[in-house]
Amino acid sequence: MNDDSRSRLENFFGYAHDLGLGPFYVSRNSPPSLVSAANIARAQSMPIEQASALASQSAGPGRSSPLAASTPALRARPGLPVIQGSSGPSLFEDRIENDSLERIRQDIGDCTRCKLHKSRTNIVFGVGNPRAELVFVGEGPGHDEDVRGEPFVGRAGKLLTQMIEAMGLCRQDVYICNVVKCRPPENRLPERDEIETCSPFLSRQLAVIQPKVICCLGACSAQTLLQTNQGISRFRGEWFDYRGGKLIATYHPAYLLRNPNAKGEVWKDLQKVMAVLGLKPKPRR
Ligand code: SF4
Repeated sequence: MNDDSRSRLENFFGYAHDLGLGPFYVSRNSPPSLVSAANIARAQSMPIEQASALASQSAGPGRSSPLAASTPALRARPGLPVIQGSSGPSLFEDRIENDSLERIRQDIGDCTRCKLHKSRTNIVFGVGNPRAELVFVGEGPGHDEDVRGEPFVGRAGKLLTQMIEAMGLCRQDVYICNVVKCRPPENRLPERDEIETCSPFLSRQLAVIQPKVICCLGACSAQTLLQTNQGISRFRGEWFDYRGGKLIATYHPAYLLRNPNAKGEVWKDLQKVMAVLGLKPKPRR
């Protein structure tokens, strides 16, 4: 590898390290060299073939990448994580020292790291209590959220607010955020490369907040955090260990707007969350 290539590669890994991407990328199921190549290409604006060559030169057969060498090894997650009682590595072992929500927001900056930046109006970072015991994670901002720069403020957001209040809380008590911070065009689902690029910021948010419970709203956030391709109906309402914390997935409020009959299932899931957090339902008037 020549000096210029080495320098560009080191810059890329420095950039990834600043973002706290190390633990994220080494834990993916994709071959590390391919993942790195895609991101080298994106970060360095070079053809994928050239980035691939750089990545393989760096790692080489049987060698760990610089990222892997500088970060603790994470468990492979071939399927869904262990349910309840598992003693996996703490979510907070991978914390960036002195990290904070403010620092994460600063690191995002006026982000152009993935193609979602092209059509967004505002980056939708997250709102709520920075020390919340309960964090709701959706998939990505919609139209209203994009305009206002706040998650869950449209029709689905109003329903989420009602759900939170039914649990005896208010929006200010919890933290609400999404897997991707910019609106996917025409409300499509975030694509894999967009999730891979943006979700490290979510991981950092969760590590800073240290909630007792993470409640995933819809398949996208659950599949991202649990690293599974299984449909949400296979594991909705079950408890999972998420790096030492508790995680439960339920249907997205937008799904409930289209399928109000599913509200009862979601309420059962929220009651499980309430039991863990010691919450009492809001009395009916
Ligand atoms: Fe950046 Fe995330 Fe927005 Fe993509 S979705 S441009 S990674 S903030």
